[in-house]
Amino acid sequence: MQHDIVIIGGGAGGLELAARLGRRFGPREGRRRVLLIDRSIFHLWKPSLHEVAAGSLDSHQEGLSYPVLARRNHFSFAFGELTGLDPAAKSLTLGEIRDEDGAVLVAPRTLSFQTLVLAIGSGSNLFNTPGAAEHAHLLENVADAEAFNKRLTSAFLSTAYSDERTLNIAIVGAGATGVELSTELIEGHDELSAGLTPDQRFDLAVTIIEAAPRILGGLPERVSAKAAKALVAKGVHLLTDAKVNAVRADRLDTSKGEVPADLIVWAAGVKASDHNRDLGLTIGRLNQFIVDDRLRTSAPDIYAMGDCAEAPGPGGKPVPARAQAAAQQAAYLAKALANPSRDPGPYVYQDRGSLVSLGGDKGVGSLMGGLGGPNFLIEGLIAKWAYMALHLDHHRAILGVSRTAILALSRLLHRRVSGRLKLH
Ligand SMILES: Cc1cc2nc3c(=O)[nH]c(=O)nc-3n(C[C@H](O)[C@H](O)[C@H](O)COP(=O)(O)OP(=O)(O)OC[C@H]3O[C@@H](n4cnc5c(N)ncnc54)[C@H](O)[C@@H]3O)c2cc1C
Repeated sequence: MQHDIVIIGGGAGGLELAARLGRRFGPREGRRRVLLIDRSIFHLWKPSLHEVAAGSLDSHQEGLSYPVLARRNHFSFAFGELTGLDPAAKSLTLGEIRDEDGAVLVAPRTLSFQTLVLAIGSGSNLFNTPGAAEHAHLLENVADAEAFNKRLTSAFLSTAYSDERTLNIAIVGAGATGVELSTELIEGHDELSAGLTPDQRFDLAVTIIEAAPRILGGLPERVSAKAAKALVAKGVHLLTDAKVNAVRADRLDTSKGEVPADLIVWAAGVKASDHNRDLGLTIGRLNQFIVDDRLRTSAPDIYAMGDCAEAPGPGGKPVPARAQAAAQQAAYLAKALANPSRDPGPYVYQDRGSLVSLGGDKGVGSLMGGLGGPNFLIEGLIAKWAYMALHLDHHRAILGVSRTAILALSRLLHRRVSGRLKLH
């Protein structure tokens, strides 16, 4: 069966696009015309990965199954991993998928398309740092976050029952991921400590190492200063202006000296997959597909969006790799692809500001436009609510208003009853 529009990648952007198109075309047309393909069978919003890593979010409870989302939003779903593309023949290859034991779950397939949208996201940039690939955990997908959480749980338990009184965690990169992970870890440890006997209690030393002179370099300076103050108050060590020269099994060698580390997370830089080079499309320095202001790649009828795309943005810089950009591009492409005969005009990135969660009821960030002028700072509970609104907005796009409200309420109640930290 051939679908008109094939979307590869059901993440923050691709899933919203499939849902918007499916709902616009309706139950019969949507399923026939729109096919979403992902190499995972369930969806979890990527900005929540640090919570899975820290043990404050259960991926099995939070994840949403693609077939269910497809049924509700009137598109078709196929489980598969893009491995090859022939832009001239308008066909693509999905490689085989194996389970953890190596058994083949899905055999290789070839599909043809009329219009293709690539929304396959990106990964981390290790900047060729020696030892980073071997010793540092990444947070690129649910499996990475769960692998880190397993190690964290073991480290919590072994430290509690050993003579060692400090567990050292080093996070490379002081962007939103590194900052949010550090506060989640501190709060998880606080909750754990409260339930341990005095002789089991241990200190958690979290250090964020950042090459730039300040944390949250992409955000306005006063947001960065407020966040730095809040992190230091929570006990996070900030090592700015420090370049990581090498990652070892038990430490980081930095330009400012050694940082001891029982666990290391690499949360610096964005780089798309090297495999993108083999797909016959023009790509940029970070392996992203170069697109024009209508999100068109170098091949006819092939679009790219979200983190895997290098789209022209404000001030001659590319559109940043953010969930809000992916969501905006999904809305733009839904309009463009639903009405191909009408020129939608160029896609213009709207920076609505950035928000960072600082754990508990705290957040900090800046909002663009609105009552406070072109760029105003918000903090505390209001910033935390605004931060959560971005996640709810994503759920609203794929689940609708009432289901989103039920999900948010059930998550809140569940947390109230069972606590935030999951050690299983
Ligand atoms: C811990 C963390 C916190 C973040 N916090 C924020 C935040 O607060 N605000 C913000 O704006 N942004 C944040 N981001 C960035 C945000 O998550 C990304 O910008 C956003 O998810 C990009 O959306 P996307 O649709 O391009 O890709 P993704 O959401 O990464 O989705 C890509 C999808 O493609 C699938 N896929 C990949 N390769 C293939 C393949 N070969 N074949 C088939 N399927 C494939 C994947 O399974 C995935 O479902 C954060 C990121 C992280 C890791």
